Amino acid sequence: MAIDNTRLRERLIQLTRDLVLIESTDDCPEERRRCFQLLRNHLDEVPGISIQMLEKNGYESLIALPEGVEEPIVLLCGHLDVVHHPEADSYRSEIRDGRIYGPGAGDMKGQLAIMIELMRQLGRENLGLSCGIAVTSDEERGGENGVKFLVEETGLRCGFAVIPDGGALTNIIVEEKGILHLSLTAKGVSAHAARPWLGVNALEILTRDLAKVKASFSEGTPEFSEFEDHSSHWFSTCTLTMISTPNDSPNRIPESATAVLDIRFVPPATAEDVLREIRAHLSEGVDAIPIVSAEPTHLAPDETFVEKTEEVTGSKASLLRASGGSDGRFFSAQGIPVLLSRPAVGNLHGRDEWIDIDSMVSYFHICHEYVLKKCQGD
Ligand SMILES: [Zn+2]
Repeated sequence: MAIDNTRLRERLIQLTRDLVLIESTDDCPEERRRCFQLLRNHLDEVPGISIQMLEKNGYESLIALPEGVEEPIVLLCGHLDVVHHPEADSYRSEIRDGRIYGPGAGDMKGQLAIMIELMRQLGRENLGLSCGIAVTSDEERGGENGVKFLVEETGLRCGFAVIPDGGALTNIIVEEKGILHLSLTAKGVSAHAARPWLGVNALEILTRDLAKVKASFSEGTPEFSEFEDHSSHWFSTCTLTMISTPNDSPNRIPESATAVLDIRFVPPATAEDVLREIRAHLSEGVDAIPIVSAEPTHLAPDETFVEKTEEVTGSKASLLRASGGSDGRFFSAQGIPVLLSRPAVGNLHGRDEWIDIDSMVSYFHICHEYVLKKCQGD
């Protein structure tokens, strides 16, 4: 059945813009629910699929599978949560230069629109293909109550997971760095700041240790340099993201202080190696507690997906490494191949985040061709 690209384009734009309007952030559970409802309204009219809603710790997930299928050959996987913007009127969209601009347009409401349209198209073609969709709502805060829950607790499985949340149209991600979010806490003894000899300054202990930890990550350190690849930023990084003390008085020595580090590391290091290395730099009494920990992931790309990408775009596909982590790691941990590429996007997590419309149409066709090929088994 021929696909009318003009109509497809219009539908993708419309649905993406409808989705961008919804402020489906972490602190708005009602809006996340409304966003699920919008997706359901569109999926409800697809013949032959059954929709299931699941929930973990207040985070909903949607799974739509062909009737009678528990483990689809291809599973399209996305998230509807977006990052919070404090400014009023942030959640709106605009079409400019062939792009849709708006919060979440590229991460990943535009991609959700593509996946929904693809499910509709497959329903219309009525070939009974084994393709489903899973949508979660906590990717931006780690995926524990989303994909991790679905894969590890509800036993969701599939032949191949398509996750359009990394890479680019012809850049398919094959490796992702490991993640360690680490909370460091120093304890001291409070005293009047005019008589510092009477106290122990927790904040000063902490900042000294942080400098030592940071230095151990700098370029060329023996621990990491062997595996650095600067062309793709393939090296371990350590970023201080938060620092705080309960102290509220300018003339008091703080008795405790906490910092959070976001560490991205490359193999062969494991989360445990990194943690051991960091603890070796800490003063006595400074605790390091992991908040999030994920090993580096190797995502084996399916040859058929690479082939379809090249056919549709007419360009050679590159297999790349990525600094960011995705929900793909949870599938990967179960030995499920993950296909991680996406339409052209930019300014992710900004108010002027965008997705390129032509590349949305191309990505739709890549996935459509891929599903036809994988599920018809020729
Ligand atoms: Zn995302």
